[in-house]
Amino acid sequence: MNKNTLKTVLEKLENTYFGAKPQLNFSTEYELLVAVILSAQCTDERVNIVTKELFKNYSTPQKMLTLSHEELSSLIKPCGLNNSKAEHILSASKTIVEKHGGKVPSTYEELNALSGVGRKTANVVYSVAFGGDAIAVDTHVFRVSNRIGLAKGVNPLATEKALMKAVPKNKWSSAHHWLIYHGRRVCTARNPKCETCFLKGECEYIKKNGKL
Ligand code: SF4
Repeated sequence: MNKNTLKTVLEKLENTYFGAKPQLNFSTEYELLVAVILSAQCTDERVNIVTKELFKNYSTPQKMLTLSHEELSSLIKPCGLNNSKAEHILSASKTIVEKHGGKVPSTYEELNALSGVGRKTANVVYSVAFGGDAIAVDTHVFRVSNRIGLAKGVNPLATEKALMKAVPKNKWSSAHHWLIYHGRRVCTARNPKCETCFLKGECEYIKKNGKL
């Protein structure tokens, strides 16, 4: 994608999705971390339903650690992958209590080092909770970036690196949300709404597939 087209794509995304924010409900860094872990392969709406109940009694790592693996797994069952998610939440909580005095660490490296916290989760928490410059690549960001031709990569890490080159650093966090919104509303996994998409003039997917 040439520089002018890239500039146009970013401007259109920003104008359309200006102020886009995470759809997950949370009131502390710890709640955000738990919600992001729960959101893997689950909708934000469902995560919000589960965390509304979960955070009533278990909104800190100390309180979370009073639950057994089986108890937590049962509470978060509607989110799917509940066994592994329970394991990740409990092991991250243990590290937060033992190594960080009960507070979610604020650097990307420390977040990524928490057991059960992968690159995407660390990037989201780092940027949303601590205002860090990071661009998390989830399924929507990966699909939409590659379709448009904004940032091509064979896997999320390669796409993240390509996005970091294509998007100005001060827009990384915002671009993550723009691409998620576009992926949910327009550039859906199945049957993307190319005919009415505001990026149809620039998008490489259309040119390749001769969709219009
Ligand atoms: S034109 Fe189609 S493929 Fe390209 S961004 Fe829009 S919806 Fe997605």
